[in-house]
Amino acid sequence: MLSIKNLHVKVDDKEILKGLNLEIGTGEVHAIMGPNGSGKSTLSYVLAGREGYEVTQGEILFEGKNLLDMAPEERAWAGIFLAMQYPVELPGVNNMTFLRESLNAVRRARGEEELDAVAFMKLVREKAATVKLDDKLLKRSVNAGFSGGEKKRNEILQMAMLEPKLAILDETDSGLDIDALRIVSEGVNLLRSPRRSIIMITHYQRLLDYIQPDFVHVLADGRIIRSGGKELALELEDKGYGWVLEENAA
Ligand code: ADP
Ligand code: MG
Ligand code: MG
Repeated sequence: MLSIKNLHVKVDDKEILKGLNLEIGTGEVHAIMGPNGSGKSTLSYVLAGREGYEVTQGEILFEGKNLLDMAPEERAWAGIFLAMQYPVELPGVNNMTFLRESLNAVRRARGEEELDAVAFMKLVREKAATVKLDDKLLKRSVNAGFSGGEKKRNEILQMAMLEPKLAILDETDSGLDIDALRIVSEGVNLLRSPRRSIIMITHYQRLLDYIQPDFVHVLADGRIIRSGGKELALELEDKGYGWVLEENAA
């Protein structure tokens, strides 16, 4: 599904990713953990195609195609979805309209017909219920004035609507209380599928109690320095990041 080789990325002339390698197979759930400032969000933005991230070396293939040649919207149409660490507020853009237009754009790209208003409403209500998002929030501007937890649920709602092939969740757990964490995790677990790959970026192992990854990677100083199964996350929880960094330096 996704193959990243020797990725080097600069932001404002500072090298942030320094030779990152990562292979994600179809249907797999990968957790990327790491200290603050290690480049986790940078990786998510590069995959989504955000402006201002200069790839200086390396390649990213998505289903065998050069992702770096694709515009951000082409990536979304091809099935890449990023739930951002800090979801953007879009004042004046109605949430329901935004969801509908995003979904229709993706459906057109897949060669599917647009949903009519009735079918769309049915789908959005059903998906909103899976993340316990109040219907009232569908009528407001996208994320505008939403609480932290509401923004994260709205991100998962977008993801559930768009049914991406590759979902990237950047610190979806941050700022959530335990009930919201459980709801958001259930929403994500519903989206697990043999046809869909998920990258979960998280600082804490707590999220991984709810969404069990197939693989865990440690990102530090712009590189993946260790990979393992879900037991690696427990080891990190227990011992912190220090020992991996030391073993890597040795
Ligand atoms: P993480 O998500 O792992 O906490 P980030 O990817 O957000 O890390 O940031 C990695 C590094 O890149 C940090 O040192 C951060 O300060 C730096 N960085 C991120 N965005 C910018 C930017 N726009 N300009 C300069 N430095 C940045
Ligand atoms: Mg951070
Ligand atoms: Mg981050």
